[in-house]
Amino acid sequence: MKWKQQIHGMKAYQPGKPMEEVKRMFGLDEVVKLASNENPFGSSPKVKAFLQADAANHAIYPDGYAQTLRTAVANHYDVKESELIFGNGSDDLIAIITRALLYPGVNTVMADLSFSQYWHNAEIEGAEVRKVPLKDGKHDLDNMLDAIDENTSVVWVCNPNNPTGTIVSDEELSNFLAKVPEDVLVVLDEAYIEYVNDPAYKETIHYFREYSNLILLRTFSKAYGLASFRLGYGIAQADVIAKLDPVRAPFNNTILSQAVAIVGLSDQDYIKHCCEANEKGKAQYVAFCEKHGLHYFSSQTNFVLFEVKADSNVVFEEMMKRGFIIRSGAALGIQGYIRVTIGTEAQNAKFLTLLEEVLTEQGVFA
Ligand SMILES: *Cc1c(COP(=O)(O)O)cnc(C)c1O
Repeated sequence: MKWKQQIHGMKAYQPGKPMEEVKRMFGLDEVVKLASNENPFGSSPKVKAFLQADAANHAIYPDGYAQTLRTAVANHYDVKESELIFGNGSDDLIAIITRALLYPGVNTVMADLSFSQYWHNAEIEGAEVRKVPLKDGKHDLDNMLDAIDENTSVVWVCNPNNPTGTIVSDEELSNFLAKVPEDVLVVLDEAYIEYVNDPAYKETIHYFREYSNLILLRTFSKAYGLASFRLGYGIAQADVIAKLDPVRAPFNNTILSQAVAIVGLSDQDYIKHCCEANEKGKAQYVAFCEKHGLHYFSSQTNFVLFEVKADSNVVFEEMMKRGFIIRSGAALGIQGYIRVTIGTEAQNAKFLTLLEEVLTEQGVFA
């Protein structure tokens, strides 16, 4: 058949092993997944109550325009309804943006290491991918600017960055936006924005008003604890949204996900509570790294990428046998490191005790 050339040899996204399978494989009663940066506390109790009472008619198609959710998000950020687009997760928006703007002959600029969906989608569209290495674990915005030329269509800034957790400061971002050519779309992926507490990071909403070539991506998957509902959104000037909207599948969010997101959004106290707990959990990982002299990236998210001074894949396997699923650095392009989602205090404590055991076995602390 006449497949696109670039499809040949391409691999599907490799999700972590399902928890049930890991339980069976290793005969474990309990498995904790600290691999995909979900909220360890789940969603707001209000969402749980709502789900129990749900009486919606799921035989009918959802509102493709997500009107009620649109109004709620517009009010939450004080933006216009026409300045929002909803995706089946922000993954969907990344695909929509790529499909609308990338094709053979154009290029796209991103950091390396960063979120794999940027280059994965770009490759499917046959665009040239320009990866600019991180500098000290952070986006190297100067070199990213240098990588932009007249054939560049999209530049991706993951802020905070996955998998390092580092941020681009407001000052750096502001200088960068002023220099990117007006006809290059800047995608500011803020999947973890709720967790950021570094004062160098300031609210970014106002930038999309100043820059017609900027779109912000946010999601209900991380801090809101609603990953399974697949709901992300983009914020940009109405002209940009109007260009992207025809590329979106007509019913890309379900009735239930739209309703649940509204409830989640209404409980900001819950988000605050989770972020406070996350800070304490982060301190557990930082203390472990400092105690053992392991390098770690300064994270403004609910995960930490840190050195294990051993083969990442071996550490991944050994931790899985002990009931914890994490991300091996090897899979993220940084061998010798692991990325761990910050869990509850008890999960973190147990994880770190077992990790100490594994790293001792591996001769790291000899
Ligand atoms: C998790 C994540 C996403 C995708 O989130 P969904 O809304 O669940 O699709 C996007 N960008 C980054 C950087 C992420 O870490």
